[in-house]
Amino acid sequence: MGAMILADGVRVAFTDRIGGFGTGPYDSRNLGLNVGDEPETVLRNRARTEAELGVEGAVYMRQIHSANVARVGRAPSGGEDVPDTDAVVTDRPNLALAALGADCPAVLVADPGAGLVGAAHSGRVGTLLGVVPALVAELRAMGGRDPVAVVGPAACGRCYEVPEAMRDAAPEAMRSTTSWGTPALDLRAAISAQLDDLGVKALHDGRCTIETPELYSYRRDGVTGRFAGYVWMSG
Ligand SMILES: [Zn+2]
Repeated sequence: MGAMILADGVRVAFTDRIGGFGTGPYDSRNLGLNVGDEPETVLRNRARTEAELGVEGAVYMRQIHSANVARVGRAPSGGEDVPDTDAVVTDRPNLALAALGADCPAVLVADPGAGLVGAAHSGRVGTLLGVVPALVAELRAMGGRDPVAVVGPAACGRCYEVPEAMRDAAPEAMRSTTSWGTPALDLRAAISAQLDDLGVKALHDGRCTIETPELYSYRRDGVTGRFAGYVWMSG
């Protein structure tokens, strides 16, 4: 895990499994509550990660595969996740926004000129519902003019096998084929197309969760933890 600069004064980081307190299928830096891990362990992992990143606090979501966007101004006390939302936006420096995942991409956005950052969890359903376009619209409603984005690790379009009917019902940009020739979805390609349509320049962390042992993958492991993409304005 290392923080990198997304834009002027904006940092992002994607965590992995390494360096936390968890055991068994959650070994070891699980950041998601409600996946069967001990809540105390999850909160310790969150505190350690936030300290390593040097942020004053972080906001996590209880994600429900929606296009709901919430504006946040502080870290909730007592480890409460923002309920029933899949995207958050803030204008507060040093407050990190986290999107959790284990195959679903975290999409982190920033508009440094307007002093805004946002994070979205954009899995299959969220991408179909347009959670990333909803987040970009919220950023622009708050004064954002020139947002940039980074799309995090995800199950790749060569691994994410789905039933044929599901692929056929997906938008063209999302349709893919596995490396073994069966129907698949490519969420990152679909999200890229959404960002392109909105005129938002996007970077990519191209890692595939299924193919990367140091990342959690629900598709690969079933019972497992969640890593996070974080975005914050430093200083
Ligand atoms: Zn893959």
